[in-house]
Amino acid sequence: MTIRLSSLLRDDQISTEEADLLCYGFDASQMKGKPLSVLWPESVDDIVRILRFSYEEDLPVIARGAGTATTGSSVPQEGALVISLERMKNIVEINPCDQYVVVEAGVINGQLQRELSARGFFYPPDPSSMNFCTIGGNIATNAGGPRAIKYGVTRRYVMEIEAVLPEGRLIRTGTKTIKSVVGYDLKDLLIGSEGTLAIIARATLAIRPEPETIITILASFSDLEASGNAVYRIISSGITPRCLEFMDRMAVEAVESYSPTGLGKAESLLIIELDGDVKSVQRDSERVVSIVHSLKGDVKVAEDSISREQIWKARRAIPPALFSIANTKINEDIAVPRSHLTEMLVFLRGLSESSGIPIVSFGHAGDGNIHVNIMVNREDEERYGRAKELVKRIFEETLRLGGTLSGEHGIGVTKSEFINMEIGHNEMDLMRGIKRLFDYKGLLNPGKIFP
Ligand SMILES: Cc1cc2nc3c(=O)[nH]c(=O)nc-3n(C[C@H](O)[C@H](O)[C@H](O)COP(=O)(O)OP(=O)(O)OC[C@H]3O[C@@H](n4cnc5c(N)ncnc54)[C@H](O)[C@@H]3O)c2cc1C
Repeated sequence: MTIRLSSLLRDDQISTEEADLLCYGFDASQMKGKPLSVLWPESVDDIVRILRFSYEEDLPVIARGAGTATTGSSVPQEGALVISLERMKNIVEINPCDQYVVVEAGVINGQLQRELSARGFFYPPDPSSMNFCTIGGNIATNAGGPRAIKYGVTRRYVMEIEAVLPEGRLIRTGTKTIKSVVGYDLKDLLIGSEGTLAIIARATLAIRPEPETIITILASFSDLEASGNAVYRIISSGITPRCLEFMDRMAVEAVESYSPTGLGKAESLLIIELDGDVKSVQRDSERVVSIVHSLKGDVKVAEDSISREQIWKARRAIPPALFSIANTKINEDIAVPRSHLTEMLVFLRGLSESSGIPIVSFGHAGDGNIHVNIMVNREDEERYGRAKELVKRIFEETLRLGGTLSGEHGIGVTKSEFINMEIGHNEMDLMRGIKRLFDYKGLLNPGKIFP
């Protein structure tokens, strides 16, 4: 097989080395697999050639960005080819008048942000993993991030996609214009499809001018409900912060013991960031501070980039810091309508107390999107089994409140057994039909999304 592949690519673009099979066999879900081979295409033509080959040979193919998925969606099964897009990292065009960039799929989100910032622009989707994750992975998972509350998620910014279908056919879908109504929107089908329909090679993304000013407010509360109520009141008063993030007590404590950043002690905490012109940001920040005070919260305001970065450093430290609680996290990212946020947070705290298993909540409160982390030591079989059972109860409550199983991470493998709780029979049939239409042989990322 390696011999046949080497007629398509150079030797340094193909590996069957044990170390590579190991390194490209897992993602951030702690799941593991072992592919047959890892391939590094460097152009759209390389992807076309690889897919023609895998189609002829009936080989499963897994597109991989940076492997930061938390759902097992980039974990390969035995006998599969991993196509790593990491060498396709060119920013092809930055167009300030039409306000778009054209990028290859392997461009790192954070790298793009830095290039744009130097020109006075930004790309709004900002997953907390942005210093590692790729634009191809962001499109394939329809990634969100702290700024989604004001600017929306990846879907809003994808204008055009160049992708390769499983049998090696190249498609271009979408336009570089602000408007277009020509035929079905295939681009929207590819966004969030978790590598199961096509391999994204390039994309045109909308960009925005940087705001005139930014203010970040850290609000800490001595009870959990107050932060949920603050979210409700800030949004209901007509203010749209650019970020509105939440941390519960266990998240605050874990960060402070992992890498002290001066968060202090709090039962719950909000990071509220406002952007826009100086006058409106000043006015809105005064209104936010008064809402926080009325709920008996304390406020720290960061107006310069150094103190702002200190607050965001604490927020980004949560995922690694949680491993000081236990060695395994069962990680969900449910979302509920914002009016039910307090109810959901109280439910999670109650479930943690009644089960005796730590459940740490943090995340994008302004979107009603909570990262729920059930912390447990893997080797304690009995406790691990009980921890896994909590997932279904959390999903049931989420759906009861009108929410969704995943706000941004997608389904992958870890949530596929639960997808039928949210998606009805008829809708599931349509989805399977779409999958068959794109990928008749079922070679692209098999075993993902569908139970
Ligand atoms: C610490 C941490 C923080 C995170 N924060 C956020 C957050 O704030 N918001 C958020 O939305 N997510 C977040 N995530 C999840 C993850 O970073 C995102 O899902 C991200 O978009 C994945 O990008 P990736 O390049 O790592 O993709 P991978 O993990 O490599 O792949 C993810 C999926 O996309 C597919 N894929 C990758 N590239 C392509 C391509 N070119 N064509 C077709 N399919 C492809 C893969 O097959 C797989 O199904 C976080 C993860 C971690 C570990």
